[in-house]
Amino acid sequence: MATNVGDLLRRTQGLWEFIEDGGEGAKRLSELQRELVDAQMRETSLIQENAALKQTIADYEKFDIERQHYTRQQKPSGAWVVQVRPGEEFEANVEKGVEFCAHCFQKRELSILQPVEKTRSANIYLRCNTCGSEFMGDKPQGSFAEFC
Ligand SMILES: [Zn+2]
Repeated sequence: MATNVGDLLRRTQGLWEFIEDGGEGAKRLSELQRELVDAQMRETSLIQENAALKQTIADYEKFDIERQHYTRQQKPSGAWVVQVRPGEEFEANVEKGVEFCAHCFQKRELSILQPVEKTRSANIYLRCNTCGSEFMGDKPQGSFAEFC
């Protein structure tokens, strides 16, 4: 079984009965206990960091499994969004037609795109409230010449 720093610290407590008060041994034992307390704090911090990293890896692995239910879709404007593959809405637990930010999807995050109203524009704009990306959803109106 692995010995942690707290166990070592407790073992040093038992040494005091063999140490002469005020002597060199007492000074060194006190110093050792201070260093063990510091090591214990670092150990606790590393254990917490390790748990957080394990959770991050688990989230990444979960996303890698879930990402197979999604596909890219090009909007009439040329912009790309991410949608659930047709027929896989149940597996992905997402309503049909919901569109996600392609930029955030690359960062393993599903962020729903929302329509944005623009004054002085007849076009439909979409915005990602996570990364702030904003783009035109439909074809640009009035800025390109149309050939009829
Ligand atoms: Zn985004």
